[in-house]
Amino acid sequence: MNRPFNFSAGPAAIPEEVLQTAAAEMLDWHGSGMGVMEMSHRGKEFISIYEAAEADLRELLAVPAHFKILFMQGGGIAENAIVPMNLSRAGVVDFVVTGSWSQKSAKEAAKYASDANVAASAKDSDYTTIPAASSWNLSRGASYVHICSNETIHGVEFHELPDLQALGSDAPLVIDFSSHVASRSIDWSRVGLAFGGAQKNIGPAGLTIVIVREDLLGHALPVCPSAFDYKTVADNGSMYNTPPTWGIYMAGLTFQWLKRQTEGGLSGVAAMEARNITKAKLFYDYVDQSSLYVNKVAANCRSRMNIPFFLHDESRNDAFLAGAKQAGLLQLKGHKSVGGMRASIYNAMPIEGVQALVDYMRDFEQRQA
Ligand code: PMP
Repeated sequence: MNRPFNFSAGPAAIPEEVLQTAAAEMLDWHGSGMGVMEMSHRGKEFISIYEAAEADLRELLAVPAHFKILFMQGGGIAENAIVPMNLSRAGVVDFVVTGSWSQKSAKEAAKYASDANVAASAKDSDYTTIPAASSWNLSRGASYVHICSNETIHGVEFHELPDLQALGSDAPLVIDFSSHVASRSIDWSRVGLAFGGAQKNIGPAGLTIVIVREDLLGHALPVCPSAFDYKTVADNGSMYNTPPTWGIYMAGLTFQWLKRQTEGGLSGVAAMEARNITKAKLFYDYVDQSSLYVNKVAANCRSRMNIPFFLHDESRNDAFLAGAKQAGLLQLKGHKSVGGMRASIYNAMPIEGVQALVDYMRDFEQRQA
């Protein structure tokens, strides 16, 4: 079967091998006589799926032993409340606002923190830059500092996580890594907590991954629901409530797929990172020399995962999208808040998919001439 290339920002393309395994195991997982969706989360079959998924994720992202990996529900938007309920201690929290997602997080945190301080904002540049860390107005004694390390809508990525200690802060760094998780390595020495929905780079919607330093557990506000208290979730091995079993299973298959990936002598996430750099360069290099398309994000913070781009002549947008669909290139329409186009090129997008998109764009451009 020749499937089209799917550029959706999420829920997004899943590696075909993963879908095929899931299809083959749908009615009978490993001779158990049950599909995964039909299993008790406390039975030995599902526990083995869960333990393998957790161990594989820990290995892939090199998560140190003093961090807990939690499999939760609620998605990134629920985490915008769950993080301050667990970490703010009802004090001051700092936000670096680099696009829609960090902005949303700050707004929600203000319900639980005494102050959700915007320490820096890229609004003046229409969210096409990341303010230099040296200019951030960090609060003394902040409970944490929040960034969205990849802004899915504006296409802005922190290629390096900030070193808060070097900036004179001992607050933990919270990162929303929903849209770059597993696309690159993470320097855990700089992170207190990372959260992300699974539906972009890991599997189906419904699973939320939280990776949190152990010493940050146990400070939830009384208002925090038990099912969202990280300590309760951690103490119960993510089984205080019924976890999203199907999502965990699919994530586990994706982790196994990730472990099998190789690129130039690298494997796993390092291989994906190298491939993602190549994919993004292929696309940006083409757009930058083109006279029909433009990407407005500053070169040092262009996302490798989500690339918003615009046609100079916006009256051609519908023709562009219709032709793309005919060429087997799906879901390229930009987010409604920024317009234009967006190509999301997560791990599951092969280099051939990006090449096919560039070929189509070049062809479309030549036909306009
Ligand atoms: N954060 C980021 C960076 C996102 O891209 C998204 C979803 N697009 C969210 C948070 C919200 O995720 P959800 O809709 O799963 O709550």
